[in-house]
Amino acid sequence: MDAPKIAVFSTPLVSTWVLDDTRRILFDAGDGVSAMLDARVHRIRAVALTHAHRDHCSGLLQLLNLTGETGDMSVMYPESSGALRALTGFLANFDSRSTGKVKWLPTGPGSEIPIEPERHFIRAFPTEHYPKQEASRHLSLGYQVVRMVDKLKPELSGLSRPELDALRLQHGREYITQTVEDILLSVTGDTTPLDPSIFAGSRVLLHECTFLDIEESRDMAKRGHPHSALDDVIRTAADADVDYLGLYHISRRYEDSTILQTVRERASSARLRCSVSVALPGRLYDDLFSVRVWDGAASSGEKVVGR
Ligand SMILES: [Zn+2]
Ligand SMILES: [Zn+2]
Repeated sequence: MDAPKIAVFSTPLVSTWVLDDTRRILFDAGDGVSAMLDARVHRIRAVALTHAHRDHCSGLLQLLNLTGETGDMSVMYPESSGALRALTGFLANFDSRSTGKVKWLPTGPGSEIPIEPERHFIRAFPTEHYPKQEASRHLSLGYQVVRMVDKLKPELSGLSRPELDALRLQHGREYITQTVEDILLSVTGDTTPLDPSIFAGSRVLLHECTFLDIEESRDMAKRGHPHSALDDVIRTAADADVDYLGLYHISRRYEDSTILQTVRERASSARLRCSVSVALPGRLYDDLFSVRVWDGAASSGEKVVGR
């Protein structure tokens, strides 16, 4: 699969958003998203909010002001977040001609919301971005874009095309196929590292990577700001065997050159099979995966594409 077209802007504490241009879904709506996307905001048909931190949702009013009028816009958000319930309740009443026409979709872990085209849906999964005692409340969520596909049953894979055609004609299509999930994209939002099995088989993983060093992430977690560090994310991507890894939500404390060099070094020493693209803080990416910082160890040895 070719890399999907993903636009992203992410500076922690300021603004974060991720646009899946193919499926026309915006994950989070940080400040300035409408100004940065300009005419492209009109492509968006759904917004999926990961949590209530202001840098992830403060651009929602202007976005819906521009796009809500059509009545086709949906907004998913963690239903247990009191802050997001308050925000969406306010917006629902703010302007009957725009924000008032939005379809509000309170969402919990495991919720599946159908999207176009046929057999596609968005699924929410629980993330861990709040202190442990809050974990059961599921105040933060990540999202996956999934499509259901029919695949040949593995036990029939040795048969020839004419043999399969004969079986299909005799017993029907369902006899030779099984329906499986194809996880096209996973977006974590802010979180500490999760069980990689959540992302197993996901073609594309956009994972927050606030810190380059695990010690820093532990230190900040003690102060109530739990996030992921680069080695966590690399391990997750390797275990889940994704094809494309996009790193975002990287702290501004690092120089751009330090971020790129560190990602290359760690991906290389982990012999990471997938390719890696990086959304540097403060920069707008129109097509994140068009530039790779690491090209995948399995296909190209130590080959690295420079920026
Ligand atoms: Zn954040
Ligand atoms: Zn956050």
